[in-house]
Amino acid sequence: MFRTNIHAIMTARSDVFIDLEWTPGHGGTHMMKVADLAAKNAANPKSKRAPLLSFTSKSSAVQDINTAPRTRWRLHLDNPNHEIPETSGFYPASQYIRPVLRPTHHPHFKDLDRATFSRFVQCATNHGYIGEYFSKFVPSRRSSNSCSCVLSSDQPLLQTRDHVLRSCVQFERAREHLEKVCPSLHHPTFSLARLFSPSAIPALVSFLKESAAFSKSHAPPLQEDEWMPPPQDETVSNRRPSQPKDPTPSG
Ligand SMILES: [Zn+2]
Repeated sequence: MFRTNIHAIMTARSDVFIDLEWTPGHGGTHMMKVADLAAKNAANPKSKRAPLLSFTSKSSAVQDINTAPRTRWRLHLDNPNHEIPETSGFYPASQYIRPVLRPTHHPHFKDLDRATFSRFVQCATNHGYIGEYFSKFVPSRRSSNSCSCVLSSDQPLLQTRDHVLRSCVQFERAREHLEKVCPSLHHPTFSLARLFSPSAIPALVSFLKESAAFSKSHAPPLQEDEWMPPPQDETVSNRRPSQPKDPTPSG
């Protein structure tokens, strides 16, 4: 309240100067009694308090922005009544990957370059440069969300994450990494969550490194007059200042 009122006074009156003075007690000082009464009134939850201005520093506000989503994410995962729904793109990865702000906290990502890590995040969250994302989140997009592996004369095929990881012919060679650790990759009941288990993550990273999967160049093409908003791939922070500048789009 003190700061709020001083701020209001100094803002409204440039000709006002304020002296702060220490006094040994309230005896005989009328304004100290007034201040004491105002303080008690402010501390009383039933009294009507004056609205306080926010004096939060910029660094504190930035920290809150970073911390709040992570805290909510942890609470979400730790609460059995609030599990991530299976319809969420992050559901498969959430079965194994815990939320952390720094990728270096996961041993698999410690030495991973930023560009590949960005594509890993897009793959894990299903928010990336793929037709499945655009069909769900950018319905105004008029271009086809079909995978480029089908010929224009063929029936369109929605470019889904499942298709990219398990069956797109463009990634057959890189997919060998996944097939080695997940022999049942092509089985109809295979769960994508398996690819985010600790034993499979190195293979998934190798798959991404050797392919253009989940990169912008691999996204379904745009019509000439169409602007495409970047996918949100910052669910997990991928800032690694020591790394060279990202050679591929990260969103
Ligand atoms: Zn394809």
